[in-house]
Amino acid sequence: MFSNEASNKLPDNFLDSLKLSLPAERLLLDVAQCWTYGFDNSRKHASPQAVVLPVSHDEVVAITKLCNQYKVPLVLRGRGTGTTGGSVPVQGGLVMSMEQMNRIIEIDSENRLMRVEPGVTNQAVQDVAAGNGFFWAPDPGSASVCTVGGNLAFNAAGPRAVKYFTTRENTLGLVAVTANGDTLHTGVKTTKGVTGYDMTRLLIGSEGTLAIITEATLKLLPLPESKRTITASYSTVQGATNAIVAIMNQSLIPSALEFLDTAAIDLIRHQPGIDLAENSRALLLIEVDGLEKGMADAVKQISAAADNPSLLEIKQSSNEQQAAQLWAVRKALSPALREIAPNKLNEDVVVPVGSIPALLEGLNRLSELYGIPIVNFGHAGNGNIHVNLLYDTQNAEQSEKAKPCLAAVFNLVLELGGSLSGEHGIGTEKMNYITMEIDEVSLLWMKKLKTLFDPNNILNPGKVFP
Ligand SMILES: Cc1cc2nc3c(=O)[nH]c(=O)nc-3n(C[C@H](O)[C@H](O)[C@H](O)COP(=O)(O)OP(=O)(O)OC[C@H]3O[C@@H](n4cnc5c(N)ncnc54)[C@H](O)[C@@H]3O)c2cc1C
Repeated sequence: MFSNEASNKLPDNFLDSLKLSLPAERLLLDVAQCWTYGFDNSRKHASPQAVVLPVSHDEVVAITKLCNQYKVPLVLRGRGTGTTGGSVPVQGGLVMSMEQMNRIIEIDSENRLMRVEPGVTNQAVQDVAAGNGFFWAPDPGSASVCTVGGNLAFNAAGPRAVKYFTTRENTLGLVAVTANGDTLHTGVKTTKGVTGYDMTRLLIGSEGTLAIITEATLKLLPLPESKRTITASYSTVQGATNAIVAIMNQSLIPSALEFLDTAAIDLIRHQPGIDLAENSRALLLIEVDGLEKGMADAVKQISAAADNPSLLEIKQSSNEQQAAQLWAVRKALSPALREIAPNKLNEDVVVPVGSIPALLEGLNRLSELYGIPIVNFGHAGNGNIHVNLLYDTQNAEQSEKAKPCLAAVFNLVLELGGSLSGEHGIGTEKMNYITMEIDEVSLLWMKKLKTLFDPNNILNPGKVFP
């Protein structure tokens, strides 16, 4: 819970002007209504003083200009599924929820692109794309709820990123509004383009701190003809991590390569569709895609790479329904963890794939050293592991050790050449650790950029920078 009492009243003139910019039903001032827009999946909460629900780019410009004039904090919100406090209004002010800017403006099959407003859900994009024989590569586990705006702001990804990369590589251009209300058009509609600086890449991943995205041109890919899901279970975690390195060190790139450690397996062992050998200590969930005629060879090649003395069994899903069941269980892992550890620290560190065995060994060591249970699973093909430190706030000893344990985890990741966040961003949750990774001079230049886009620090203040 954050306190924003210092700023708990909006200037009267500001409110009067705001009321002229929007109809009453899209300006929420009721305390209870505002309260519901104050949290995300970090479980932190702070109430805004007002919530606006714009329906057009022009409305976004008008509201942003007002916030800038009166120096009122302006926090963008998709659907609040972010895990690092990104959409929590820690300094109060206005929450701008994009839920009503949710149109798919255009699908252009010839040029494999789709233009959308930021409040459209990832799933709605996938459904319309699929109807035209395409998909958009970013596939977060929260796809049915989360928005493209949130995906862009966090450079979100998911299992498919191992083959098809993240939001950044799958977005061609943006329309965005800076803090003073200027409209920026970034990027191109073509698959090549080198005119001017790459503002698209800069704004993607900027967590709502540089500009407000009001439109995006997404790059679509043709749906693969066929897919196969393979599960490989191992008697040791090291056996599985060695297999990850071997799979990524051969010519066929899987379309997903997910890892689950012993504790993660224990959470799903008895779910429908899961049939694991009793002595399984680690599991790989692998998908290959491509032409139907190449599937048998692809499964053979991946199975050969996955084989080592710790392999207990390797199985191919017998049908699409069984494969879908497996992926549903994988998606449910993160929420399931909340039930056994409400206070988990959920990180999404990333290391070069070759360092995955060293990362898992190190995490095991730290878990023993600090007495904090750690559950690990995630997008192993990208070296992106969700590291969950489970602790109980009622247990004084564990609470005291959780934070130093987390710092030690980050140290380990950086020593291995990795990064603090693969896809969840910094928000409020990791801002005090950012200097562990980014040097003073580079951080200073980031702050200079922030000042250029947002001189009055109204856009998502209190995020990213310590
Ligand atoms: C069960 C579960 C599974 C998840 N799985 C994954 C996963 O596999 N991969 C992954 O990457 N993430 C995952 N996430 C995290 C989260 O869903 C993603 O980060 C998602 O992109 C957030 O979208 P949102 O619409 O909820 O955004 P919010 O949480 O509302 O906002 C996220 C950030 O975007 C900013 N923002 C929103 N809209 C705009 C805009 N129009 N312009 C500028 N800034 C904006 C906000 O200010 C905030 O900083 C998961 C979350 C849950 C709960």
